[in-house]
Amino acid sequence: MHWGNFAIIAKAAFYPHAAGLPWYVTIIYLAAAGSFVLSLKWLSSHKTARLGVKAGEIGMAAAIIATLFLPEIRQYNWIFIAGIAGAAVGILLAVLTPMTAVPQQTALSHAFGALAAALVGTAEFYSHQSHLTHFHTVVICVESLLGYLTFTGSLIAAGKLQEVLPTRPIVFKFQNPLNFIIFALAIAAAVWLAIDPAQGIVYPVFIALALLFGVMLIIPIGGGDMPTVIALLNSYAGLSAAAMGFVVNNKLLIIGGALEGSSGFILSMIMCKAMNRSFINVLFGQAQAEKAASSDDVYAGRIKNTTAEEVADFLTSARRVVIVPGYGLAVAQAQHVTGELFELLESRGVDVQFAIHPVAGRMPGHMNVLLAEADIPYDHLHEMEEINEQFGEVDVVLVNGANDVVNPDARENPNSPIAGMPILNVDKARTVVVIKRSLSPGFAGIPNPLFACDNCLMLFSDGKAATTEIIQQIKAQ
Ligand code: NDP
Repeated sequence: MHWGNFAIIAKAAFYPHAAGLPWYVTIIYLAAAGSFVLSLKWLSSHKTARLGVKAGEIGMAAAIIATLFLPEIRQYNWIFIAGIAGAAVGILLAVLTPMTAVPQQTALSHAFGALAAALVGTAEFYSHQSHLTHFHTVVICVESLLGYLTFTGSLIAAGKLQEVLPTRPIVFKFQNPLNFIIFALAIAAAVWLAIDPAQGIVYPVFIALALLFGVMLIIPIGGGDMPTVIALLNSYAGLSAAAMGFVVNNKLLIIGGALEGSSGFILSMIMCKAMNRSFINVLFGQAQAEKAASSDDVYAGRIKNTTAEEVADFLTSARRVVIVPGYGLAVAQAQHVTGELFELLESRGVDVQFAIHPVAGRMPGHMNVLLAEADIPYDHLHEMEEINEQFGEVDVVLVNGANDVVNPDARENPNSPIAGMPILNVDKARTVVVIKRSLSPGFAGIPNPLFACDNCLMLFSDGKAATTEIIQQIKAQ
């Protein structure tokens, strides 16, 4: 459930009878707002994340139910039909979407949440056009601008992540001035409407400009920045919902929208820092220049292959092992066999820890969720800052399906497209084993000098198949 969907119900309930709320609704709304704040707090740690999800769900359910009991609602038919249809789509999406496609699913739900918010704004505009105050018109314009641009922007982001649209940045001459002109025209239309809401043609033009601006904002951004952009679009959708709270006079929408707006904004800033991307570039849809070395220069004659049997020997004779999961582990669905390998090695007295890079995988917390699914104890999961200093004392690092997040070029090559991105210093360990299927690059599309290091061995295989084979070899020892 997105704020935009809640808003439709809230609108049905409140407008035009926005005056007073029954006391019980006020109390439930207050409790729901509290549960949203707690939910965000609990979601910030993997230990309490499940509780956070529950708190958010309970808060949202309570808010919807309280809204449905308002005396102003006289007819439930359309609300229930829409609710059942929405829930059916939501359940299908949740069940059918593979873990690796969650970022694009998130983009789609933002798109439709934002569209819902924008449509409420549009309905408000046309229902009350003749007697809208300046304030209401401005708030409707803010809501519609953010809602419609988030709708098209999120659709483009989902298309890029699903690779139905080109993932590379689409750039052309005079792009920035053109974007500025579109935005300026949209603002001019909003000002015109605020002065004279009766101008029938201006509002559709304003909507078209907002839709176009959403597309223009996202096309110059490469696939690698898309999850950050999604967090940012989430923030825009939240601000749109908050603006709608003012339009339909619903304080819970204002609180919830503001929470979503600020948390999305903070998340995108954290992600930019973890990837060493300029927040301003992502915010204004600027592509980053990319210059990468050729893979032949980096790899030719320097790659050493290994086998599952050899890796099993390394692991069982090590005192300290660190496993680094990456996107490939998610693709291979290797989390459960990784859990099995962890237990097997621990039962043989090997100290096994996991190193989690903040942007390993394709969405924040991707690796934490996968490892939690495999019941790997939280106290064996370590954030990058926590474990980076310790790699020098690690006997074997097993990198499974990670690439960019262990690329030493980020640390050592100022000309690399990922220069300055904080990475896991796995190359400092005594031995590094990398499981991946080929020498193909990761999301950043650049070669990784780690694979050519003297202490690095490559196990070319699917992440799950390789781990299963290593387990069999250990058991056979
Ligand atoms: P990468 O995308 O760098 O690399 C993943 C590697 O997995 C590939 O090189 C691929 O190699 C390998 N792989 C794919 N399928 C399999 C499989 N079945 N078995 C084994 N290996 C497989 O992943 P990282 O996790 O290291 O880095 C994440 C990247 O995503 C970073 O560039 C990050 O900036 C970006 N990103 C992440 C975000 C987040 O929030 N998590 C947000 C935005 C961007 P091969 O094909 O040879 O097997």
